[in-house]
Amino acid sequence: MKRLMTRTLIAAAVLTQMTGNVNAETVTPSTKTLPPLTTPNNATPPSLISGISLENMDDNVRAQDDFYTYVNGKWLKNTDIPADKSSWGSFNELAEKSLNQLHSIIDTETQKKDLPAGSIKQKIVDFYASYMDEVTLEKLGMTPLNPEFTRIDAIQNKKQLATLIAHLSTIDVGVPLELGIGQDAKDSTKVVAGVDQGGLGLPDRDYYLKDDEKLKTTREKYLAYIEKMLILSADATAKQHAADILALETEIAKIQWTKVENRDPVKTYNPMTLNKLKMLAPHFDWTRYLVDAELQGKTPYLVIGQPSYVKGFDRLLEKTPLDVWKVYFKWHVLNGFASQLSKPYVDERFSFYGTTLRGVPENELRWKRAVKTVEGEIGEGLGQLYVEQYFPAENKARMEKLVSNLITAYRQSINTLDWMSAGTKKEAQKKLDKLVVKIGYPNKWRNYDQLEIKKDQLVANIMRSSQFEYQRQINKLGKPVNREEWGMTPQTVNAYYNPSMNEIVFPAAILQPPFFHADADDAVNYGGIGAVIGHEISHGFDDQGSQFDEVGNLRNWWTAEDHKKFATKTKALISQYNAYSPVKGYHVNGELTLGENIADNSGLAIAYKAYQLSLGGKTAPVLDGLTGDQRLYFGWAQVWRSKTREAQQIVYLKSDPHSPAQFRGDGALANQPHFYDAFGVKSGDKMYLTPDQRVIMW
Ligand SMILES: [Zn+2]
Repeated sequence: MKRLMTRTLIAAAVLTQMTGNVNAETVTPSTKTLPPLTTPNNATPPSLISGISLENMDDNVRAQDDFYTYVNGKWLKNTDIPADKSSWGSFNELAEKSLNQLHSIIDTETQKKDLPAGSIKQKIVDFYASYMDEVTLEKLGMTPLNPEFTRIDAIQNKKQLATLIAHLSTIDVGVPLELGIGQDAKDSTKVVAGVDQGGLGLPDRDYYLKDDEKLKTTREKYLAYIEKMLILSADATAKQHAADILALETEIAKIQWTKVENRDPVKTYNPMTLNKLKMLAPHFDWTRYLVDAELQGKTPYLVIGQPSYVKGFDRLLEKTPLDVWKVYFKWHVLNGFASQLSKPYVDERFSFYGTTLRGVPENELRWKRAVKTVEGEIGEGLGQLYVEQYFPAENKARMEKLVSNLITAYRQSINTLDWMSAGTKKEAQKKLDKLVVKIGYPNKWRNYDQLEIKKDQLVANIMRSSQFEYQRQINKLGKPVNREEWGMTPQTVNAYYNPSMNEIVFPAAILQPPFFHADADDAVNYGGIGAVIGHEISHGFDDQGSQFDEVGNLRNWWTAEDHKKFATKTKALISQYNAYSPVKGYHVNGELTLGENIADNSGLAIAYKAYQLSLGGKTAPVLDGLTGDQRLYFGWAQVWRSKTREAQQIVYLKSDPHSPAQFRGDGALANQPHFYDAFGVKSGDKMYLTPDQRVIMW
C-alpha cells in the first residue's frame, strides 16, 4: 500500500494480527436464534464436516499446556518455510493462491491481442510486461533515476529541500516528513493533510539505537549495503557517504517517537497553521512546501503527528551540511527504486532486505514480484478482474449474515457487562448501531483513465502511478468524504477496521478456508472467520478505537470510572503478553500489541457467543469426536498456524502491532472461560490462569 494512505488507517488490520474474552454468565442460549451460517436459503443442508485439519495435530502435546501446538504440531514439524518466504502459514498460503490467480488473469489478458488501448486491462498487461522485460531493464541500469539525481544535484540551498521533500512525497520515496491525507481525527467529515515522522531505511528506531548483538549486526550490514549500492552507482566516495547516511538516519531515529508513543491518537493530533509551523520549525520553508505539495489553500492546517520530532528535524536541518542531505535523499531514491533497476541493484537490495534483515534465502521469482508490483500500484484495477473470476456471489450473502450475527452477539454482550455503567454502555451501543460493514469488493471501482502506463518503462510507470495516487489523495481535500472507498484490494488476505469511518472491511480473498469453509459445520467458521469479524468489530472498542465515537470523531464517551476499570484490564493484558518470548532474548511488546491483543481476545469471545446464539439452545453435533465448542477453538487455533524465520520475527517484534501467531492463538484462549470448560484446563496446566488473572473486556 502507498505510504500516503497510512495516515488514515490506525493499526487495524487482522494481520501484521486477533483475540477474545467471555463473560462466564452470558452464554446461556437465549432469546434470539440466529440462522446457521452454512445453509443458504432454499438449499439442501450440506452433509456436515468438521472443517478441522486433524492431520495437523500433535497428540504428544497436551491441549491444556499449549493448545496452538496441540492443534498444529504436526504441521509445524513437517512444514518448511519456502525458500522465498520469511514466514509461512494459513495467511501466506491464501496470499500465494491469490498471487497465482492474479498471475493467471494477467497471462490470459496478455494473450489477447484486441485489448482497447488505454483500457485498464491493457494497462495491467503493459505494467506487468515492463517488469518482466529484463533485457530493457539491464540496458537501462540505473539511468531511469537520473532525472531525480539531477534534480537533487541542482539544489543550491536548504530552503529548496522543502521543494524536494514535497516532490519525493509525490513519487512515494521515504522522507523525514511523511505527508498523509485523511479524515480529521476530531471532525471525520473533513479531509485534511498531516505530516508524520519518517525517513529511515531500517524498520524501527531500535535498529539504530539499541546495542544488542543482532540489531547491531544488522546495522553494520546496513552500512555495508549502502556502501555497495553507492559503489554500483559510481559514487567515488561511497564509504564516506555511507557513513554520513547512517549517521544522519541515526540522528533522525533519536528524535523519533517510539511505535508505542505513536499509538496515542490524542498526542499525535496536533493541528498547526502555517504560523505555528514556522514557529515550530523555522528553518524549513513551510510556505514553499505547502505550495509545492499542492496543499496551499486546500487544508486548514497540517496535523502534526510528533511535534517534538518536527522541532528536532528543524535542528538537524540546520546543523547538517547541505551536501549530506543531498547524499541522503539520493540514497532514499536509489534504495526506494532499487528492486526495479537492473540485476546488480535488485540482488544487493534483496541480499540486505531479504536475507540479512528477514532471513530469506532466495528472492521470489520475477513473475511474483511483477504481479505484486502491479497489485501495489493499480491493485483495484486488478481486483475488478479478480472478483469477476474468483469471488462467488453467494459468499457475500453468507458473510453478511455472519457479520450480522456477530453484531447481535456483541450488542447482547455489552448489555451484560458487569464492569461498565449504563451511560457508557449506551454510547457503546450507539457505536455498534452506526458500524458500517463492507464485504468482498467496492461498489464503485477506481478509475485509472488518467494514468499512463508504458510497457518498456518500469520505473516511470511506478512513479506515474504514485503521482496519480497522490493527485487522487490531494483531490479529496475540501470535498465531502468518499465513504465508498476501500483501503485494501479484494484480493488481499486480510481485513481492517477504520476508526474515522467506523467501518469494518472484509476483502473477498479472506473468505476461504481455513477462515471460511462453505461446506463445514458452523463451529469451525465461528472460530475462524467469525473471530476475524469479532476482531475487527473489537477494534472499535480497543484502547485506541474506543477513543473514537460513533461518527468517527476522537471524542471521549466514557465515564471516568468506567475508563479506569478498562485501563486496569488493559494493564493486565499488557503484562500477560509482555511475558511471551518467541525468540530467545526478545519478548512481545505488550504495549505495542495491546490494540490487536484486545481485538483477538474480544473477537474470539464474541464469536463464541454468536455461535451459542446460532445454536438456539440446541446441542451441537459431535463431529470427528469433537464437541461444537471444541471445534470452535480448534478453528481459532488452526487459523494461526504459522512459522516465521528468526530475523523476520525480530523485525515483527520491533515493528508489528500484532503478536506472533503462537501467542495470538494461545494468548487469547487463556482468557476464555469456555475454553477451560471445553478442554478441562485446570490449575497446574501451563495455559491455566486463575479467574482473577483472566482479562475479560467485551
Ligand atoms: Zn487487528
